Amino acid sequence: MTMTVQQKKIEPAQDAFRELRGPLTEDKAIVAASRCLECGREGNPAPCTVACPTHIDIPRFIRQIYRGEPLASADTIFTANVLGGSCARVCPVEELCEGSCVLVQEGRRAVEIGRLQRYATDAAFALEHQSLSDRPAKRSRGHIGIIGAGPAGLACAAELLRVGHQVTIYEARSQIGGLIPTAIAPYKQWTEPLPQEVAVLRRLGVQFKLGQAVGEGGLSWQQLEARHEAIFLGVGLGADVLVSLPGADLKGIWPSLEFIEQLKSGNPPELAGRWVAVIGGGNTAIDVAREALRLQASQVTVLYRRDEAAMPAYAHEVREAKEEGVRFQWQTMPLRFLGAGQVSGIECRCTRLVPVPGDRPRPEPVEGSEFTARADVVILAIGQRKRTELLEQLPDLHLKRGLLQTDERGYASGKYYAGGDCLTGGATVVEAVAQGKRAAQAIHQDIERGLLS
Ligand code: SF4
Repeated sequence: MTMTVQQKKIEPAQDAFRELRGPLTEDKAIVAASRCLECGREGNPAPCTVACPTHIDIPRFIRQIYRGEPLASADTIFTANVLGGSCARVCPVEELCEGSCVLVQEGRRAVEIGRLQRYATDAAFALEHQSLSDRPAKRSRGHIGIIGAGPAGLACAAELLRVGHQVTIYEARSQIGGLIPTAIAPYKQWTEPLPQEVAVLRRLGVQFKLGQAVGEGGLSWQQLEARHEAIFLGVGLGADVLVSLPGADLKGIWPSLEFIEQLKSGNPPELAGRWVAVIGGGNTAIDVAREALRLQASQVTVLYRRDEAAMPAYAHEVREAKEEGVRFQWQTMPLRFLGAGQVSGIECRCTRLVPVPGDRPRPEPVEGSEFTARADVVILAIGQRKRTELLEQLPDLHLKRGLLQTDERGYASGKYYAGGDCLTGGATVVEAVAQGKRAAQAIHQDIERGLLS
C-alpha cells in the first residue's frame, strides 16, 4: 500500500538545517500578538494555557509582547517553564496550545504561540536578561539529588532551587540537556538556546556532576541516599532498539539517534542522490525522513507495519512530510537487508491488520506478499531501549513493561521521585518539564511536612 503526495517539494538549494519555525521580527511579533483575544479569566484559564503541560500564562505573555515588553513576557514564560526557549522550538504546538486556540475553533488560523514564545525568550537571552525567577530563595532547606540532566531533571532542579533547596544533578554523559543536544532533529533545534537555559540553572545554584554514573559501576544508591533528603530519577531512555534481522550489520544502516547525532556534529552523512528507507512510524521516523530529504536524497520512503491511522507520529508532521516529498509504504515489515558489504535493498513483506479491542490493530504477515524495496541507506527508528537494567537495581521501585510507575505526584518509593521518558516511554520535552516540576512540588511538600530527612 503506497501513497505519495508531492505538492511542496523542498527546494534543492534550501539549507539542509534551516529551522522549521524561524524567528519573528519585532514588527511581525506585534502583529501576531495583536490577533490574540486574551481568553480566560481568574479561575478559568484560556484553552491554550490549559493545553500547555506547563500551563504557561499564554494570553499574559502575548499581551506583554503586544505592549512592547518582551523581557516581562520572557519572565512570564520562564516562571512556568525554565526551558521555555527550547520548548518554543520543539513543542508540537499544533497538538497543544495552538491546536486549542479559540481561533482554530472558529475556523481561523491559530495565534502563532510557538513563534511568539521564541521571540520573547530570544530577546531575554540576547540581552542576558536575569529574570526574577532566576533568583533562588535565600533559605537553604533540603539537598536533593537529581539523576539525569535531561529536561525533566533540569525543570525539577529549577523548581526546587526557587523555593530554597540545594540541588546536585548527576549525569553519566558529559553533556547537559538529555536528548536535546544530540537527538532533536536539527531542523527543529540545533543547540541554542539550551546553553543559555543551562546558564540560568547555574546562576540559580545547581551543581552539575557530569560524567558521574550512578548505581552499579558508579556512585552507589546508598551513597546517594546518605547525601540527599530526596532523589529524583529523570534517567530517560537508552540507545535505539536495534533489529536482529539478517544483514542488519551492513554498511549504510543507521540507528536513528546516531544518524541525528551525526547531523548535529556538522558532518552529515552523504545522502545526495541516495535512496533512503526509514523503518518506523513515530515522530523520530518522520524527523529523520525529513532531514534526509533536506540532505538531497533522491527518494525517501518510510516503511511502517501498520496503516497511517495507527501511526504514532503526529498527523500534522506526517502531512508536512508528504507535502515535502516523503513517500510512505504502510503495512510493510522488513524481513532482511540485502547487499554485499553495503546495503542495497530491503526484502519486505506486506501485513494485514487484525483489530484488537481497545488497542492499535495487530499487524500480521501476509505469506507470499514479499517484495524488494531499493535502499542505499536505511535508518532504523523503531524506538529506544528502556532503562530497566538501571531501575531494577532499586528493588522497591515498581516497573511495568520496563517503565517506572509513580503516583500522580511523581512519587515512586522511599526517597525516590521520578518523571520524564523513564515514565512515559518517550513523550515531548514539555511533558518531561511538566513532570519534573510536578515531582519538585511533591518533594518540597514532603520536606515541609517533615516526611523526608
Ligand atoms: Fe489568545 Fe488563542 Fe490563547 Fe485565546 S486561545 S488566549 S486567542 S492564543
